[in-house]
Amino acid sequence: MDFTKLASKYQTPLYIYDFDYIRAQFNSIKEAFRARKSLICYALKANSNLSVLKHLAALGAGCDCVSVGEIKRALFAGVAKYKIIFSGVGKDDGEIEFALKKDILMLNIESEAELKRVEKIAENLKITARISVRVNPNVDAKTHPYISTGLKKNKFGVDIDTAKKLYIYCKNSPFLEPVGIHCHIGSQILDIAPYRDATSVTADLLKSLKALDIDIKFFDVGGGLGICYKDEITIEPYDFAQAVLANLAGTDVTIVCELGRFLVGNGGYLLTKVLYEKYNGAKRFIIVDAAMNDLIRPSLYDAYHEIEAVNKSGGGILADVVGPVCESGDFLGKDVMLPSLENGDLLVVKSAGAYGFSMSSNYNSRERAAEVAVENGKDRLIRKRESFEDLINLERECLEGANEENR
Ligand SMILES: *Cc1c(COP(=O)(O)O)cnc(C)c1O
Repeated sequence: MDFTKLASKYQTPLYIYDFDYIRAQFNSIKEAFRARKSLICYALKANSNLSVLKHLAALGAGCDCVSVGEIKRALFAGVAKYKIIFSGVGKDDGEIEFALKKDILMLNIESEAELKRVEKIAENLKITARISVRVNPNVDAKTHPYISTGLKKNKFGVDIDTAKKLYIYCKNSPFLEPVGIHCHIGSQILDIAPYRDATSVTADLLKSLKALDIDIKFFDVGGGLGICYKDEITIEPYDFAQAVLANLAGTDVTIVCELGRFLVGNGGYLLTKVLYEKYNGAKRFIIVDAAMNDLIRPSLYDAYHEIEAVNKSGGGILADVVGPVCESGDFLGKDVMLPSLENGDLLVVKSAGAYGFSMSSNYNSRERAAEVAVENGKDRLIRKRESFEDLINLERECLEGANEENR
């Protein structure tokens, strides 16, 4: 990847996504489930750029959405409605109605109260809502507590007994059709055992529902497959598939996976320019033009991202790589070994394709970075750099209106 060329063509800070890598990741997971019917629903929240969605949709991906905004993005990018799932603990009436009217594949239900809301809204619309219930299997995904979701103490899903009750309730409702079982235990998972435990719990439920004549078609194992940021040993797609399928012998369900990070994480780079180098006492700082508003993972989760100097090698001195935002938590990397740097040098922050741009903000009135796709050796802009106009757009008219009234 020619970072120098990309920086001079598109300026910095810049997000760059390797679309060939994303395709290869998608194909590897699809291949792992080759023996079964499968639907890979990309978890939009990891990176919701329309061109990324279109790229994945063209490969056959569906989408896992957690808001109406995400459903709209998926549809806009050309994802088939029958491949869209709507998850999330707090869907409001408007969102439920929108999803039902759009006739998407299914809504993942996370509580009894939500199921009743969905039933009511479906009744008003005179339709039958396809649903799945999100089971909280009480399994420890052994990941960062902020991205662990499959434990009783987490807000997600319902326990197995409640789930069964909800399915029976659906069976007796003309407005609810249970088509799936869903489970998502967390993110950045590196250990296969929690997947095996969780799917064993949900597979038992599947079988007991079958005995009650409740026919589930989609077995949704969620997402969360971890990636390598530093030196982590990750789960191979094949082993992941085997762990899931081990519990499903003799069943004829379509496997659904909701992968986000796995598909895009290591296909993304955040390219940034060095502004200054300084020492506070013995402590070395490299100040760059990207900041926590561009990539919040280091500040939020203490996440590690590899940072490398572009076209500069040689030994170096440990430095903290920090941005211009007025917070001590504004850092992209700590104690990074970097050669001597000067204004204009480039650094690349790796593994930035997931939860990078999608978690970015305008904090400090900073315009968000541009995004570029690289595919078959060619680069193209997939999101323009924001302008000051974009920043004030929604405020300016109000300000002008208020000024008029006050006159
Ligand atoms: C966030 C999320 C995912 C994707 O998680 P990754 O770790 O990015 O694979 C999948 N399903 C649900 C319900 C989620 O909330």
